Amino acid sequence: MIRLTPMDQWIAEKIEAPDGKLTREHLEAYQLEKLRDTMALVRAKSRFYREKLADFSAESLQSLEDLQKLPFTTPDDIKNDSLGFLCTSQDDIHRIVTQESSGTTGAPKRIFFTVEDQELTTEFFQRDLPGVSESGDHYLILLPSERPGSVAGLFMESARRNGVRTLAHGLIRDPRETLAVMEREGIDSLLGIPVQVLALATFEAPGERQFHTNIKNIILNTDYLPKALVRRLQDKWNCRVFNHYAMTEMGMAGGVECEAFDGLHLREADLLFEIVDPLTGMPMPDGEEGEVVFTTLTRNGMPLIRYRTGDISRFIPEPCPCGTVLKRLQPIQKRLNGAVKLTGGGSLHMAMLDEALFAVEGLINFQAQVRAEGDKDRLDLKVHVAPWAEDQVEEAVRQALHGVPELELGAKRGDLTLGYVEVDRSSKLWPPVKRVIRELRDEVRSR
Ligand SMILES: [Zn+2]
Repeated sequence: MIRLTPMDQWIAEKIEAPDGKLTREHLEAYQLEKLRDTMALVRAKSRFYREKLADFSAESLQSLEDLQKLPFTTPDDIKNDSLGFLCTSQDDIHRIVTQESSGTTGAPKRIFFTVEDQELTTEFFQRDLPGVSESGDHYLILLPSERPGSVAGLFMESARRNGVRTLAHGLIRDPRETLAVMEREGIDSLLGIPVQVLALATFEAPGERQFHTNIKNIILNTDYLPKALVRRLQDKWNCRVFNHYAMTEMGMAGGVECEAFDGLHLREADLLFEIVDPLTGMPMPDGEEGEVVFTTLTRNGMPLIRYRTGDISRFIPEPCPCGTVLKRLQPIQKRLNGAVKLTGGGSLHMAMLDEALFAVEGLINFQAQVRAEGDKDRLDLKVHVAPWAEDQVEEAVRQALHGVPELELGAKRGDLTLGYVEVDRSSKLWPPVKRVIRELRDEVRSR
């Protein structure tokens, strides 16, 4: 029997659902009310929205569909004028997350949270955690936790409220050291970044046991999680792996999976999600793929209206085995800007490479680069593998690439070559940076 997530119960309480039973009707009435409140707040307090939404009023929102009349907010809007979004004085801001742009130019993106905004996240973790862990479980926190109000800090506070123990560790640099900590401290659960946790699971060769580790549950905080990577973690520890769909702009938590592991159950009391056509901005029919857009319903410091995430996904219209009425989002597999157009047609997404390469035994991480070579594309890779990985790993990587239809087709047609595969066997992990396919072409360089 698949249980509802504790989030369902929490949302029912939060929106004061009659008889504590969540219905779509009641949830959507609540969302509309909160949407109007947010609209009134930003039009009164935010310099950016006062101008942007000058032609709209809170009263003009008669139904959730009316949201579609409002303009989108983009990451560039935030980069250009972060402070313009503020609805409180800067003194009330408790936490600022600064995200540097990936390009060489451009201002960083700053996201502001008040104490109340952060409590929303803590409460979300607090209410969600009993669905994953029991009192007495012991988490190793593999995220930076020095800064007050970090995701790690909020999670640790929510764990404390649940009687779940935590140990702050920070990012993994050397898997051997981290595994020693896990053994010594009796760690049975992990919160971390996917490729970092994979490095732990891959440190020992198959069948070899240097450390006594027994992991029950892993929570991975990420925008997107390759299935092949999850399988490797499950193979190692026979554990449950939960995907927390998280983006700073969402207040670090957007949705969770239930025990059916079939779609992200969305945090609909705090966030209103839409799927839109990335080109026209029109809503996509239920079940069809498009860009994920969300509106914050309960944030005070820096509310966001119709924020474009750049993530591509779809709502899953079929009912979930757990019986939830919350909307479910297909786990993110694609990013709008994450694809590289191939000369011979079609595009290559990071997710395609991830699913192929994370299935390779011993592989921990990789970097991919597409460059123009004459009138062809060339794909080069640098792979980080466990020290025990055999020399055949390079061949296994090449084999795996042939399993990607876009690459195989390009190679057959002769407009794509697989270039070098550089193998790194060092024990130190690569710094966790956003994983994208680098594109080196003349037209890109001259832009
Ligand atoms: Zn479910």
